[in-house]
Amino acid sequence: MTPQTIRLALLSILVLLVPAAADAELRQRADVPVEHTWNLSDIYPSDEAWAEAKDRLAARFDEILAFKGKLAESPEQLLECLTLDSEISKELTRLYCYAAMKSDEDARVSKYQGMKQMMQQLATDFGSKSSYIAPEITAMDRATVDEFVAKEPGLKPYAMALNEIFRTKAHRLSTAEEKLLAESGIMAGAASTINSIFTSAELPFPEITLSDGTKATLNQAGYARYRAATNRDDRDAVFAAFFGKLNEFKQTFGSQLAAEVNKDMFYARARNYESTLHYALDGNNIPVEVYHSLVENVNKNLPAFHRYLKLRKRMLGVEQLRYSDMYAPTVGEVELEYPYPKAMELVLEAFEPMGEDYVETVRRAFRERWIDVYPTAGKRPGAYSNDGCYDVHPYVMLNYNDQFEDVSTLAHELGHAMHGYYANKTQPYPTADYSIFVAEVASTLNEALLIHKVLEKIEDDDVKLAVLMNYLDGLRQTVFRQTQFAEFELAIHQKAEAGEPLTGDVISQIYGDIFRKYYGHDEG
Ligand SMILES: [Zn+2]
Repeated sequence: MTPQTIRLALLSILVLLVPAAADAELRQRADVPVEHTWNLSDIYPSDEAWAEAKDRLAARFDEILAFKGKLAESPEQLLECLTLDSEISKELTRLYCYAAMKSDEDARVSKYQGMKQMMQQLATDFGSKSSYIAPEITAMDRATVDEFVAKEPGLKPYAMALNEIFRTKAHRLSTAEEKLLAESGIMAGAASTINSIFTSAELPFPEITLSDGTKATLNQAGYARYRAATNRDDRDAVFAAFFGKLNEFKQTFGSQLAAEVNKDMFYARARNYESTLHYALDGNNIPVEVYHSLVENVNKNLPAFHRYLKLRKRMLGVEQLRYSDMYAPTVGEVELEYPYPKAMELVLEAFEPMGEDYVETVRRAFRERWIDVYPTAGKRPGAYSNDGCYDVHPYVMLNYNDQFEDVSTLAHELGHAMHGYYANKTQPYPTADYSIFVAEVASTLNEALLIHKVLEKIEDDDVKLAVLMNYLDGLRQTVFRQTQFAEFELAIHQKAEAGEPLTGDVISQIYGDIFRKYYGHDEG
């Protein structure tokens, strides 16, 4: 159960996969007012304190071995073992979150990359040492385990985890095999780590000069900002330069993605799953039909998406809509600027229906620096909420750039953060985690609350139109774009499972085909 627990805990970092808009000429972190940076010293007062806590925890790992071969002896033994396992997992996650968030501040600082690596090693090490737990439990009779839970009230918070162990019994291996699989974890993250460092820091980002003479560096943040330029030639130039640069590394990106797919295949096969899709969904106990039905029904409703595209075309007044028009402002004269203090005020007002306690906690998040607001050089692109520090409080990372969509992202991530806050506050650690399948409910509800409040306040029709269009843009991304990704991921995994090669060219071809279908290329 342990590797699963850790993996789930790490998953509680919910990433919004859209690079948030930001200044192309990035500020240095030291130049950001301290009240707009997150305060990670709530987790550990210093890097030294982190290192000490890590060593102390690592020294306890062998304690888990004392229960080996004894879990079936008594409910007390089982409880003691699960409690220790849970405690160590909780502290491992806290250590990992500190290292990961430190390294997200600036991917170029190798010290924090190193700390993250140490945590991956440590998690693998503990996963290996505790890998006997699940096989030993499944070797017990189910009725005996139920009896243990009935007899020992302390086991109640573990009932669900125990249930999961039996539900997935067919995919559990022998103790020796589980240990080997746990050890392989150290290699599993390589592709995504390489991709993340390359795309946020070391990729040589192109530089272009815009029609007004502005020199624009098209890093992730610069691309996100200038792709929304009002001048169409500028937008075309931005897309050509940015994707042209990515294309120069087509085979590199292809190899990274292929390595990730291979990893999925390895684990799916090792655990006797029918396919990578079955493997990916089984963790959350979701039938594969749900996935297929999502793709099928979004496809059936593509005409609604095409109607949105036609609307966008009409509003922009262009002959033919290009992909470079997707982020262009549709209501020309409206310049929607939302400086961060205004955003804080707006979301607090919008969240009022959630009750005073909720609003007060969000105020606390602002006041006590749970949020890292602005983009800075080397900072990880995008936005996320991280509620992995069970005993501390959630953290939110943003790349705030004064646009309405940034306010919306703030509301979205605060939804995740508050979900995590209440779950951690109300539930014991073993049941505090929630499934990724339900996670977006809390965040998208907050987006809806925000838009509701904003529309109520706006008098000007053009501004109202701009905000509504922004909401539709959001739907395009949440519903259609995510499903487009889901379809793409399924396609590349199926290709690999059929034994066919996944090169940069093949991947581009698959993505291109799906893309053209979604955007109604053949219907014009
Ligand atoms: Zn989200």
